[in-house]
Amino acid sequence: MSTTTPESAALPIADRPATRRAMVRHLRRDPRTFLALLAVTSLAAASGLVAPWLLGRIVDEVQAGTTVSAVDQLALAIGVFAAVEILLTRWARLIGFRFGERALARIREEFTDRALALPTSTVERAGTGDLTARGTTDVTAVGKTLREAAPDLFIAGVQTAFLIAASLALDPLLGLAGLLGLAGIVPAVRWYLRRARPAYLTEGEANSQVAEALSATAAGARTIELYGLAGHRTTVTENELTASRTARLRTLGLRSVLFPSVELSYCMPAVVVLFAGSFLYAADAVTLGTVVAAATYFRQLVTPLDTILQHVEQLQSSGASLARVEGLAAVREEIPADRLVPDGDRIELRTARFSYDTSSPEVLHGVDLTVRPGERLAVVGPSGAGKSTLARLLAGIEPPTGGEVTVGGVPIAGLAPDTLRRHIALVTQEHHIFLGTVRDNLRIAAPDADDGRLRSALAAVGADDWLDDLLDGLDTDLASNLNGTQAQQLALARVVLADPHTLILDEATALLDPRTARHTERALAAVLTDRTVIAIAHRLHTAHDADRVAVMEGGRITELGTHDELVAAAGPYAALWRSWTA
Ligand code: ADP
Repeated sequence: MSTTTPESAALPIADRPATRRAMVRHLRRDPRTFLALLAVTSLAAASGLVAPWLLGRIVDEVQAGTTVSAVDQLALAIGVFAAVEILLTRWARLIGFRFGERALARIREEFTDRALALPTSTVERAGTGDLTARGTTDVTAVGKTLREAAPDLFIAGVQTAFLIAASLALDPLLGLAGLLGLAGIVPAVRWYLRRARPAYLTEGEANSQVAEALSATAAGARTIELYGLAGHRTTVTENELTASRTARLRTLGLRSVLFPSVELSYCMPAVVVLFAGSFLYAADAVTLGTVVAAATYFRQLVTPLDTILQHVEQLQSSGASLARVEGLAAVREEIPADRLVPDGDRIELRTARFSYDTSSPEVLHGVDLTVRPGERLAVVGPSGAGKSTLARLLAGIEPPTGGEVTVGGVPIAGLAPDTLRRHIALVTQEHHIFLGTVRDNLRIAAPDADDGRLRSALAAVGADDWLDDLLDGLDTDLASNLNGTQAQQLALARVVLADPHTLILDEATALLDPRTARHTERALAAVLTDRTVIAIAHRLHTAHDADRVAVMEGGRITELGTHDELVAAAGPYAALWRSWTA
């Protein structure tokens, strides 16, 4: 199993412009709901402006010596508009929630599609923990914001704009005075925002590392137990938890500075308006009612501003989450589009070199090989010679670090995952049986296959006898019913169903007993008649049955020919064969 180095191979994170574009893209997907939301919210905000204005009118009328019934009428109108505002706001929130839910569903679907399209080597290098954290913690954070915060934020934003416009329209001087009083919020929020994004990104990364450490421990539980590594794993997890705690304390610290300074700034506009209003009133520039209305507008502004600022923090953290979710799109952009169409199925390696990363030694040192379509090629050689690495290059999981590996003239690793899977499949000893029935597990490879096809695929790999013993046949639940041999046969049956042009078997029959293995390999060969099969072989009967044999030693192919040629050549293969048959 490959190890992962999360620091050097973490999945990318979308930058600010890309995150912003993603946000706009999500807003644009549902334009009608968005326009309805804007319309209803604007109506609600407009009805909210009436009450303070009417209050100012009452003050002016009382000052001018009006009747009680006139004041009563104005008071009644205030009540009516307040009720209208409440109803419209509730309606706007309903539309907003619906909008948020739909956007969340789309983000989830997009994430799943992108995760499935990731190249295998990217997922292996980044570690499944990072991907899992993005798919769970981050998508949930974005979802929470979309569901809960975004509708309220939108309404609050529209209310703020309307209130500021109304106060300026009422009296520009008073309006400006109020805005001046509000100015203190700006530096406080800017101070916070500048620090918040990196702090929340660090927090997200730290969460991923905790998930990574825990999932690695769970996945390797047996090995850890066997080698007594429990203490070591506990230390690793503790370190990750400490880093996560430090990151959380940092974001908490930022919040504890932001909130008190903002609270103070809320009182200022009304104070400044009253102060400026008293001068203007004394100079006969405004009526008392106008001052009251303007001060009320600025008092009223506190509610939507508070909503916005309460959510700024959530917006920051979910912005960082969205950047991590959208980061998967960046991986996808690195993969060339499906422009390359292989011309035929000839696989060629030209002085292919490979090393797992820049700091580790080269594993393949210039391998030249042409695999002819339809041939059966066995690759043999001592452990560590680079056979599995060669298989990964042939399967397009890793691109060569030098030279070329092509299928039908185009680089294998440059193919889009869907095209690649149609051409080449790699079966190793590692395979996964999913929770579900035999049928579910097989249909992963061929969603439209009927029972007849499923049965003949199982028969092709010698699994039909145990299938008949299963109580419910194809409907049998596989939760814990399969042994290693059966699981491996099921994985091979999947490959028969997927029917790629080229099949690479990397010790794919290692878990079967020698007789079953040989039987299975021959049965597979019978089904895959015109397909290319490259078998990494640890049992030499596989090589004996193959059209050609390649011998790998120390990252090079040292011998290539038919079994008989190589035995006659009396080289390394002949020696291996003699010792095996002795
Ligand atoms: P074989 O299949 O012939 O036993 P491999 O291809 O598995 O050989 O390994 C060839 C060399 O590459 C070995 O030295 C091995 O340690 C190294 N290697 C294999 N996998 C990795 C990996 N994921 N990261 C770094 N080195 C690796």
